[in-house]
Amino acid sequence: MPHDLSLLDTALAAYPRAALLEGPTPIQKLSRLSQLPEMNGCNLYVKRDDLTGLGGGGNKLRKLELLLGEALAEGADTLVTWGGFQSNHARLTAAVAARHGLACELILTPSAVRTDDDFCHNGNVLLDALFGATIHRLQRGVTPDSYAAELVERLKHQGKTPFVMPLGGSSPRGSLGYAACAAEVLRQADDLKVHFDRIIVPNGSAGTHSGLLAGVTLARSSTKIVGYSVLATEEQATATTLEKTRQTLQLLAPSSSLAESAVQVDGSQRGEAYGAPTDAMLEAVRLLASREGLLTDPVYGGKAFAGLLAAVRAGKYPSGSNLLFVMTGGIPGIFAYRNAFD
Ligand SMILES: *Cc1c(COP(=O)(O)O)cnc(C)c1O
Repeated sequence: MPHDLSLLDTALAAYPRAALLEGPTPIQKLSRLSQLPEMNGCNLYVKRDDLTGLGGGGNKLRKLELLLGEALAEGADTLVTWGGFQSNHARLTAAVAARHGLACELILTPSAVRTDDDFCHNGNVLLDALFGATIHRLQRGVTPDSYAAELVERLKHQGKTPFVMPLGGSSPRGSLGYAACAAEVLRQADDLKVHFDRIIVPNGSAGTHSGLLAGVTLARSSTKIVGYSVLATEEQATATTLEKTRQTLQLLAPSSSLAESAVQVDGSQRGEAYGAPTDAMLEAVRLLASREGLLTDPVYGGKAFAGLLAAVRAGKYPSGSNLLFVMTGGIPGIFAYRNAFD
């Protein structure tokens, strides 16, 4: 029986959304990887959210569809957000602003673990400037949210109407973009006649994980969502994801509930810190590239794919399991991590 997505579709339709994607992103099977004996008979698939068309693509565009919808409804003329120098969210916010004729102010914070020239000037931050964003590079120790509050006051004083987005665009509204993605995946699963046992995602600011989990919960699907935390510890990321999923569900169906046990976060791949390369990440990026011709980034996708590989190799999933890995983009990050791959 196909999924009944009417509840989810109707609930999502209540929120303004500015179209930034060209349509559903493809789901593809990783045939060459799945054939390897070490995959223990699991069928690996990818959801190509790296193929979203604007600004180099990536998962943030799905959240930005909702956030831009909200911003335009409020009459905003300036998008304000923050992140690290290699923030994909900042880069895509800048691209979206360019596309829609809005101004963009990006507050970028230095990394605790990467200070080389490629990291500070190549990859995403190079593209931010091409998209015409105004960039505020913070000194170490300055907190971006307090800087943002002052910047917003300055902009208002100049007669502008700023719209502020949180880290990663992961407000409950932004996360709705991934609840919509859950509906998209379930429709594609019906068309492909494949039941996905698990959907595997990187978990950073947790909006991607939370949105997908809210979506499958409302659709009463048995597909489980597994997130690999790359930013917070497993315990923190679990708590944040539970709270964000509940807030997102609240927007869609105020009477719905979510069991704590539905939140599955694995912290084993984070390594020393956010953005710090790990051997498993390097191996995962190389394997996907050399065996399937596909690119994942060193900060998010590489670590999450490393987690999926470790679980599959350890025989954690029965033979015949269908596992869908969400490719979230972030490819400019590869150029910022050149010396990690050397
Ligand atoms: C932001 C990001 C993620 C994580 O998404 P969250 O919603 O912040 O958890 C994953 N992959 C890439 C490439 C990203 O830029």
